[in-house]
Amino acid sequence: MNDSRTARPRADPSEVAARVKATIRPKIRALSAYPVAKATGMIKLDAMENPYGLSGEARAEIAAAVANVRINRYPDGSGDDVKAALRQSLALPDDVALVLGNGSDELLQLLTAAVAKPGAVVLAPDPSFVLYRTIAELANLRYVGVPLRDDLTLDLDGMLAAIARDRPALVWLAYPNNPTGTLFPAADVERILAAAPGIVAVDEAYYAFADASFLPRVLEFPNLVVVRTVSKIGMAGVRLGYAAAHPAWIAEIDKVRPPYNVNSLTQAVVPVLLKHGDLLGEQAAAIRRERARVAAALAALRRVTVFPSHANFVLARVPDADRWFATLREAGILVKNVNGWHPLLANCLRITIGTPAENNALLDALARYA
Ligand code: PMP
Repeated sequence: MNDSRTARPRADPSEVAARVKATIRPKIRALSAYPVAKATGMIKLDAMENPYGLSGEARAEIAAAVANVRINRYPDGSGDDVKAALRQSLALPDDVALVLGNGSDELLQLLTAAVAKPGAVVLAPDPSFVLYRTIAELANLRYVGVPLRDDLTLDLDGMLAAIARDRPALVWLAYPNNPTGTLFPAADVERILAAAPGIVAVDEAYYAFADASFLPRVLEFPNLVVVRTVSKIGMAGVRLGYAAAHPAWIAEIDKVRPPYNVNSLTQAVVPVLLKHGDLLGEQAAAIRRERARVAAALAALRRVTVFPSHANFVLARVPDADRWFATLREAGILVKNVNGWHPLLANCLRITIGTPAENNALLDALARYA
């Protein structure tokens, strides 16, 4: 019997370590896995989730949809029902093509893999979403980060100069940007689209909290791909991202995609949730109202600078981010300490907007401390 509990000889750990070292490339061994903090029992203001739950009605509809899933079968490889639901909820014309990802994280990988020829460059403002760089480096591509200005706004001249110099195959623009919350001017994005030889991927993970989007203009440019996720609008657990572009781009990205990358449970649940778009929209509006309140309260604290945010979080520079982070954690509140990620983020905390009660707990803890 093949019982894993029976005693069997074990490979020598030093032999395993030697084989790992000889086989896994140094660049990967030097990385640390993407850190996901444990947050059991804490007020969770670290990951840009929607803090609101679903109505009982929506939960019952989800349960019914899931009960009907035939999990003995592979999922629909192209996710047609999900695409149809997205098209309807976004009023997306038929000539805009879509590809789905297991979260938009996976779409970042697919786009990078699609452009990965030797010598290709991936370029983004810096600091921005850390996975742009990690994924490019994993694909053995050269990553060029163009520093934001000191006030965390886009350095358009720096971007255009770097594009002219490095001719990137792929430019990432998080719109709005993570971790700064900045919304780059649309006119600057247009200039970058005009200058870039390859794909400009406008990553609209936080579109629900901004008054700007390139999705309606996706067919206007020959090199625009708009990437989005349902994670920030209330569905982080289902892992669904989508990219929209001219069909000729999507056809290529689709070839890189694993055949069944979006599982059947996700495909069953997302259309149900999208039918509750009104509820999700109200929740996004509440988050935006709370963002204004939290930003003003933080800005009123001594020696705190709050950067203008168009996302569901605010970035604040505090006198001592490591100590403030630790103090909040002791108070049961988890935020993201981005101090040390980039020189421009020195002493910065990224604080996701929670429910009014959660935000009050944050502000009370800081008022006691600041
Ligand atoms: N893009 C940006 C700019 C993000 O901040 C994030 C999440 N932190 C993602 C993409 C990935 O989101 P998900 O994989 O949940 O769709």
